[in-house]
Amino acid sequence: MAVDNRKADATLESLHRIFTVPEAPESTLGLIEQKISQNLNEFLGTHIAAREKPLIEIEKDFSSAEIPENPSFVSDHTQFLLTKLVAQSVHTSAPSFIGHMTSALPYFLMPLSKIMIGLNQNLVKIETSKAFTPLERQVLGMMHNLIFNEETSFYQQWMHSADHSLGAFCSGGTIANITALWVARNNVLKPDGEFKGVANEGLFRAMKHYGYDDLAILVSERGHYSLKKAADVLGIGRDCLIPIKTDDNNRIRVDDLTATLQSLKEKNIKPFAIIGVAGTTETGNIDPLDELADIAQAHDCHFHVDAAWGGATLMSNKYRSLLKGIERADSITIDAHKQLYVPMGAGMVIFKNPALMTSIEHHAEYILRKGSKDLGSHTLEGSRSGMAMLLFASLNIISRQGYEMLINNSIDKAKHFANMVKQDPDFELVTEPELCLLTYRYVPAETQQALTIANAEDKHLLHDALNDLTKFIQKRQRESGKSFVSRTRLTPEKWDHKITTVFRVVLANPLTTDNILQDVLIEQKELAKESVHSLPRLFTLTKRILANN
Ligand SMILES: *Cc1c(COP(=O)(O)O)cnc(C)c1O
Repeated sequence: MAVDNRKADATLESLHRIFTVPEAPESTLGLIEQKISQNLNEFLGTHIAAREKPLIEIEKDFSSAEIPENPSFVSDHTQFLLTKLVAQSVHTSAPSFIGHMTSALPYFLMPLSKIMIGLNQNLVKIETSKAFTPLERQVLGMMHNLIFNEETSFYQQWMHSADHSLGAFCSGGTIANITALWVARNNVLKPDGEFKGVANEGLFRAMKHYGYDDLAILVSERGHYSLKKAADVLGIGRDCLIPIKTDDNNRIRVDDLTATLQSLKEKNIKPFAIIGVAGTTETGNIDPLDELADIAQAHDCHFHVDAAWGGATLMSNKYRSLLKGIERADSITIDAHKQLYVPMGAGMVIFKNPALMTSIEHHAEYILRKGSKDLGSHTLEGSRSGMAMLLFASLNIISRQGYEMLINNSIDKAKHFANMVKQDPDFELVTEPELCLLTYRYVPAETQQALTIANAEDKHLLHDALNDLTKFIQKRQRESGKSFVSRTRLTPEKWDHKITTVFRVVLANPLTTDNILQDVLIEQKELAKESVHSLPRLFTLTKRILANN
């Protein structure tokens, strides 16, 4: 590193300078801004990732626990950030980064996000956010409308009503899920006569008052781990989030749900919420929401739909019927930072009934006064940024039709990729895409043949070798930096519910082309050959099995 003799001083004058708006574009900060934009665009526009530097090496650049005693020049520090941080970050916008739900962003969000940072509004109360508050309420109204499609008069009546709320904007699906279940819990243990409700008296007294031995929340075994956190923080306990079996398409088994409800009742356990998953995180499948709505109604349960990832599908007239029944939910989680292409920190929970959220309302004297329109009175989080503005901008700029095109293209692309996988004799499609998510693995043609004739013990050995190989290929592919798919473990019926490691692909980036997808498969085949353990083991096994039969 070049020796730099310039030294920054901690003076009040220099501190004032960093809080002052830079006047000219050629001012130092103006130039730094240009440089950052240029560098970012290079990073985002060119190759996928820097050759992977081991995390342990990167940690050396972030090893000191001392708060710097003296200031740095912004330009110097920017240089550090560009070389040590940006260059070693993950290029989630790359068209060949097809492994996660975090995807590319439209470029217009970069300049617009300056409005959010620059104004630094705090949505907890009107006093620090003014117009941002009605904007956020409008965004929640739009999402409510997308799901429930109520009359215009409904939105005129409730959207900006001080004592009602169509939902809450929050940092993500986790907080949204917690909020939904918080409302559900407070409603099932609501004030009753002398009893002042669980919100005031706590779970112990609530259980005593209502005479339940326990509470339960039901969700399929594919439910997101955030639900466990919710059960934990709400005092329900993780063990009381009851996993329901899934069918071969990763959808909740209604027969198992009904049987579980019956056995809970016999044990004097109150199931108070049933959760449908609309787009499982691992495979993108959707629970039969209509049937779940019927069951929730029959058992007097709150019906929550976790559509954190899949909810954006409602933008598509072509595919929205996949989520049929969602309009019967009491609450829905949707992440804008997934398929609505907004930067992270944008989750929402929407409530069908505008009065439902009153069960979690909190008031404080200096802010959040009763009857005020402060959003903070019914959000779990306190201070919050004006992130809703970026979703508002995207909804206006992209529009419903634009989102439909994005969603449709993603699903069609996933179907197309699934066909590519199926047509290649050396790959096996593990889960068909329902939305734009699919899983598959590399299984050489002869091994596929061997799997059909192997005895149970040999099958076991083959799957073990395949699992190692899939893991090897996935890691190598990530390290080589050209493309990225993720991996997960499933238990497909086809393979006797044996743990099966698979590649997981999410096709949300509109710039991902057929050629890129083809290259991903070609690269995976090439990388397989580099495996000095799993592949030879697999071939030896395969040969033996084929020879013996
Ligand atoms: C992503 C996701 C969540 C969690 O959302 P965060 O924004 O990561 O907190 C919850 N449920 C499902 C189904 C998800 O896909």
